[in-house]
Amino acid sequence: MDNILYLVIPCYNEEEVLPETSSRLLEKLGSLIKLGKISEKSRVIFVNDGSKDRTWEIIEELHQKNRIFGGINLSRNRGHQNALLAGLMTVKDYADMVISMDADLQDDINAIDEMVDKYLSGMDVVYGVRGSRDTDTVFKKFTAESFYKIMNTMGANTVFNHADYRLMSRRALDGLAQYGEVNLFLRGIVPMIGYPADVVYYNRGERFAGKSKYPLGKMLSFAVEGITSLSTKPIRMITALGFFIFIVSIGMLIYSLVQHFMGATIVGWTTLMVSVWAIGGLILLSLGVVGEYIGKIYLETKARPRFIVEQFLNDTDEME
Ligand code: UDP
Ligand code: MG
Repeated sequence: MDNILYLVIPCYNEEEVLPETSSRLLEKLGSLIKLGKISEKSRVIFVNDGSKDRTWEIIEELHQKNRIFGGINLSRNRGHQNALLAGLMTVKDYADMVISMDADLQDDINAIDEMVDKYLSGMDVVYGVRGSRDTDTVFKKFTAESFYKIMNTMGANTVFNHADYRLMSRRALDGLAQYGEVNLFLRGIVPMIGYPADVVYYNRGERFAGKSKYPLGKMLSFAVEGITSLSTKPIRMITALGFFIFIVSIGMLIYSLVQHFMGATIVGWTTLMVSVWAIGGLILLSLGVVGEYIGKIYLETKARPRFIVEQFLNDTDEME
């Protein structure tokens, strides 16, 4: 057993953070290698997700200077999840364990030690879980925590307060590779793979440079993606809603008949207007939800590639 660790880091317009990130990670990997916990063949692989700035040039320079750094250049921007998947699938045959993390180092890199320890003690998946969100703004904290709660009630079971900072063993990645879905929501799929898993707690820091690439709009569509990729619960909720409205309509029917026999039919105008709009709105909403799923089916049947790797820079030789 070699214990080769690969770090996979998706990067989109991260020229401001890469120099700092790379030097901190170099230090971290160096210390782990020195401790003999991981092999000297361990690497840091940056995935360039179609950045518009100098991100790829910086990655190439890093690779030139030190072979511990490698890079994957995607053919265009595919979003964080696909970039991450591209990284994991490309490196999985070189590594024994892979840790995925963000380029901005908001996830404390000191948790890597503990993740590796848990891997060495036999865990296949180690989730990084945020202990506190003190440094996030109240708004970010509220929206992010609601995100997990809504996801879970909608049938998309995820590990609470775990983003995509996690360690996966090679066999867990081989398991992941068998999920051929185009609409892949990693946080929901990883727990489905099975194998022994554990968590590591860490504190989330602030982005030390650059702006968040996840504004509220993107986060909302990410939540919709996650829910509709993982569960059909929203469709079942529509059925329940339909059933509820049917019960209400029976009540309305009785009410209307009573009114009719009392000779006060014209009074019902308000009720009628309200119900026409309410039911119309509900029907449109329901159609929209069903449409989401049909759209998904459409994309799945096309089975388009989830990412295209343009270039893979990696030096697998032993370092001197
Ligand atoms: N990212 C990416 N492709 C995108 C958007 C973001 O690869 O289209 C990367 C980004 O470079 C970062 C990670 O995804 O490494 C998380 O993004 P960010 O830190 O902006 O999100 P936040 O921490 O604010 O949720
Ligand atoms: Mg961030």
